[in-house]
Amino acid sequence: MSDPHPARTEPLRIDLRSDTVTTPTPHMRQAMAEALVGDDVYAEDPTVNELQQEAARLLGFEAGLFMPSGTMTNQVAIAVHTQRGQEVICAEGSHIYEWELGMMAAFSGVVPRFVEAPRGVPDPEGVRRAIRRSIHQSPSGMISLEDTHNKAGGTVLPLDVLAGVREVADQEGLPLHLDGARMMNAAAAQGVAPREIARHFDSVSLCLSKGLGAPVGSVLLGSRAFIAGAHRYRKMMGGGMRQAGILAAAGLIALREGPALLPEDHRRARELAHALMGAGYAVDLDTVQTNMVYATIPQAQAKSDAWAAQGLLANALDVDRVRFVLHHQISDELLVRATEIIAGK
Ligand SMILES: *Cc1c(COP(=O)(O)O)cnc(C)c1O
Repeated sequence: MSDPHPARTEPLRIDLRSDTVTTPTPHMRQAMAEALVGDDVYAEDPTVNELQQEAARLLGFEAGLFMPSGTMTNQVAIAVHTQRGQEVICAEGSHIYEWELGMMAAFSGVVPRFVEAPRGVPDPEGVRRAIRRSIHQSPSGMISLEDTHNKAGGTVLPLDVLAGVREVADQEGLPLHLDGARMMNAAAAQGVAPREIARHFDSVSLCLSKGLGAPVGSVLLGSRAFIAGAHRYRKMMGGGMRQAGILAAAGLIALREGPALLPEDHRRARELAHALMGAGYAVDLDTVQTNMVYATIPQAQAKSDAWAAQGLLANALDVDRVRFVLHHQISDELLVRATEIIAGK
């Protein structure tokens, strides 16, 4: 018989390209096999409903909606919060614009307005200055923050900044969305309950398939009325899944068991940062706050190709920048081997 898990027989592979590369744990596979399911487009999948309710409870919202990806949860949120011709105020480098293929324009007819954000952190007064009301300009429709901020290095937004932007949003009457793909990393890094972050927002997008380890899925959280609106746009985008409880079952395990593993990823990221510096590569240690390390590496693509040939995978994101992302399937042993490859041993 052929091996049902051929990946396990492959040669050494230390995959630090992203935390999306995690594969489902045995516990997840068991839960998937045993999941109760129904037709989720009719809201009749008990496991999806359980996941949505549990995520909503955890983050302090009335309701949640399960979707295949974080791009979809973000873009559905934008569709619900905005009207065509408006602007979405967001930190420079935000995933909702940089890596979501112009979807805010293509689907919702809105454009981004970036706010300066050193190390991913915008100044609440900078957000206020970006707000537009004049009849000669496209009006502001919503504000969106990203925590942790991916492109800035997985950096954490301090809670007082969240409170400051919340105050601006309230004063200006604008909805405030969180692209919280990795908000569990932000909570772990600050040692706070996730709802201490979520409580500042009208809606939150949380990825289950990043560091939390689920194979597929994100959840959008908000008020009951907001989620009712989100249902319609999810279906328009083709995100109405049927017996999705198979996926939600893994998502529930990710939500329950994933967060406890994140501090170890963060510790290993710092160790990797020091190893990279030891090998002569520059790293801004102040940005190494969670599970990512961005290193300055000349001829990044050639270097990452050479490392890949030895089994170490990392993403060259620029001519001289390589991103390494830690996740729960990188053990201390694999990390040691990675640092040896980086050191040229
Ligand atoms: C990964 C990610 C998303 C969602 O990505 P998908 O691949 O569509 O699930 C959204 N925001 C941030 C910051 C991300 O890192």
